[in-house]
Amino acid sequence: MIGELSKKLHAGHITAAELTDSYIKRIEEKNPSLNAYVTLLFDKARADAARADKMLKAGLGGELCGIPYALKDNFCVKGYETGCCSRMLEGYKPIYSSTVVEKLESEGAVLLGQTNMDEFAMGSTSAGSIYGATKNPVNPAYAAGGSSGGSAAAVAADLAVFAIGSDTGGSVRQPAAFCGTTGFKPGYGAISRYGLIAYASSFDTVGILAGSADDAGKVFNVLAGGDDRDLTSTERIENLQPGEADGAVKIAVLSEILEKTEEDVRQAFGKMAEILKNSGAETGEVSMPCLKYALASYYIIACAEASSNLGRYDGVRYGHRAKEFTDADDMMAKSRTEGFGREVKKRIMLGTYVLQTGYYDDYYKKACSLREKISDGFSGIFEKYDFIALPTAPKGQIRLDEKLAPTDMYLGDLATVPANLAGIPAISINIGRDRNQMPVGMQLMAPKGRERELLLFADEAEKRLKDGI
Ligand code: GLN
Repeated sequence: MIGELSKKLHAGHITAAELTDSYIKRIEEKNPSLNAYVTLLFDKARADAARADKMLKAGLGGELCGIPYALKDNFCVKGYETGCCSRMLEGYKPIYSSTVVEKLESEGAVLLGQTNMDEFAMGSTSAGSIYGATKNPVNPAYAAGGSSGGSAAAVAADLAVFAIGSDTGGSVRQPAAFCGTTGFKPGYGAISRYGLIAYASSFDTVGILAGSADDAGKVFNVLAGGDDRDLTSTERIENLQPGEADGAVKIAVLSEILEKTEEDVRQAFGKMAEILKNSGAETGEVSMPCLKYALASYYIIACAEASSNLGRYDGVRYGHRAKEFTDADDMMAKSRTEGFGREVKKRIMLGTYVLQTGYYDDYYKKACSLREKISDGFSGIFEKYDFIALPTAPKGQIRLDEKLAPTDMYLGDLATVPANLAGIPAISINIGRDRNQMPVGMQLMAPKGRERELLLFADEAEKRLKDGI
């Protein structure tokens, strides 16, 4: 889609202004019921489009010049509200833009608005937003997934050509799977996090939601690279072709996760695995016993980091300030009580608990060593295999009227958190439908630095599925 649109824009068959207006019209029609966008930046979008048209006329601008996109509500845009869908940051206007926004701006991409998400990116449905849930465009009775549910729904409903999300434990891949789009999480540090409001810094990754792996790759090419303002960002991305290293592509399937997969999701996954096999790939089932600790390890570390990162919202340095209070302590306590929602408070408390003297060794330190074990486990698998394939959401879709116990919600992240623990790239592609005609996603993972190889392979898989070969 980006390739075709870009050609038309560069050839002058359409203008960025016309393309942007067509998206604005669709957003006006569909967003009130979908709730994908929480902030509409149409004046800015029109100004961005006019700038893009000038760039195009002058023969400047790359493949994203004039292409309209959506941004998750946790990326700073200078002078425009960025709120993480939290009362705590309502009305906050950053004084700088995130690197992602800066890069897209200099390419001439057009920002349409900011999208709905679970408060501070903590959740799996996007229902934990102060603006209410985003509906799944395929069937509004279902959640769009989370936490980047607004971004996934915007792409699935064609209210943006592509969208930016953040993925700490699956928040780009899982909503992509739920909405039937492509969701790409590069390796940790492949894209600068500067200006992405932190949830759990050692996992937080900028991700891309798009109509295809090919589109995600085009956006990734613009965003990838080191940044002096994020010292965890890196330039180290290789340019291999799938299977280039030694012949046939080898794919591992993790038995621990497959065993815990719902039947209809497993069926769709099995069909896709057949297609990959028919295309010449070799597949094998692999066991990684330490994976059973992945969720516990993720939730302990993520909450610990969140409790520290969210300490800045005290009504003094950042965030909502309570109107009535007796002294400074009371002011901070009331500001945080009023500003944060239930899930965020729960995680801050859990995080503070596991970091306490006396519990630190039992929980936090243990979780860190398990994380390393899991990371080593992946390295071992990648010595023999090029990619790992898994269902993205083994537990299937979530209905909006479903009352999930918190631990069941966390269990849904079983297949996505391992890639964040290990910092490796992973992508979710749509591979079919479940018994309720809702989309099913397959996740492919690759070793660190192999983003391009992964994107090319996912692109090939998407094309084969489309052609039924
Ligand atoms: N569902 C996971 C969580 O709530 C992942 C969130 C994310 O990736 N931001 O932590």
